[in-house]
Order: sequence, then C-alpha cells, then structure tokens
Amino acid sequence: MQKLLLHVCCGPDASIPFLDLRDQYDILAFWYDPNIHPEAEYWKRLRAFREVAERENITFLEGAYEPDVFFRLVQGHEHEPEKGSRCTICYSFRMKRAVEVAVENGCSAWTTSLNISPHKNFETLTAIGTALAAQHGIPYLAIPFFKKNGFARSVAYCKEYGIYRQKYCGCVYSETYPEKFQIS
Ligand code: SF4
Repeated sequence: MQKLLLHVCCGPDASIPFLDLRDQYDILAFWYDPNIHPEAEYWKRLRAFREVAERENITFLEGAYEPDVFFRLVQGHEHEPEKGSRCTICYSFRMKRAVEVAVENGCSAWTTSLNISPHKNFETLTAIGTALAAQHGIPYLAIPFFKKNGFARSVAYCKEYGIYRQKYCGCVYSETYPEKFQIS
C-alpha cells in the first residue's frame, strides 16, 4: 500500500479524508496549523485532532506552533479578504512544511485536508501543491474532499462523536471577523 502524507489543518477536516483514504493508502497524518490565534485555541484544536486520529487509528506527527513566522510572511497582506493573497501565503507556508515532512518520512505522495473546506480555494491549493511536488520530486494528489458531501459529512462526524469544531478559520484576522467564516 502506498504511504501517503496527509497534511492536516484541523481534526474535523481530517475526519473524512481518513475515512475515504484509509482503504487505499497507508496514511501518515501531519498536523501543521502553526498560526492559530489565540494560543489557547491552538491547543483546543490540536486536542480535537488527536481525538479524531486516535479514534480512527491513524499514525500522526505534530508540527510546531509558529505564529511569528506567519506574521512575518503575511506582512502587507494582513487585511486581504478570505481566499486573497494572505490566504495564499498561508496555504504555501503550511504545504511547504508538509511536503518536506512527506519526503523526510519516505512517503510516495502527499495531499492536504484543506481541500475539504468550502472556505478554501481548491485551484490555488492545487497550483501550490503541484509546484511544490515538482520541486521536491513527490506527487501531490489534488483530491477534492469537498465533493460527495465531504464538508457536511465532517460536520455530522463531529456531532456524532462530540469533536470540537471551530467557528473561524484560525489566524487573528479571521478571528477578528468570525462572521465571514461562520460554518454552522
Ligand atoms: S483566514 Fe485561514 S487560510 Fe486565511 S490566512 Fe487566516 S488562517 Fe490562513
């Protein structure tokens, strides 16, 4: 079975990729959600992810909490709207680390749970993943997890198992304007 690195942005978004891919791939999940604000929210989301991974018996690694790196990268883009340049930088920041971890751990392909969210830009994620794949020599799988009711199924999964589901995307800018990111 091919070893697949699944970059994980949060437990709820990872749930359906786990269920849908586990029969086809040997999944190694990589939690990397480095810019969540405030820090207490970061740990709350990480605990929710661990709960999902342990429930589904998925092996996982945890990346670092690095809000300072994020703030440096998005200077000048802070007030861009959702799916704008700030978010593109944020996707790249996370995915660059994910592809490195995929290579370090001998995976033969990689993808991201960001692809399940209707609040993310699938085409932009695909372009970033494809470019990183070429640079690092490991195929990126542009899997549209949002299809086949992926997002609604993840909401139902969290309700069924009592998994914490956040109300805003994650960075301080999205936390300041949560109504734009409201998902339930
Ligand atoms: S809104 Fe979400 S995707 Fe966009 S920069 Fe903030 S955390 Fe990243």
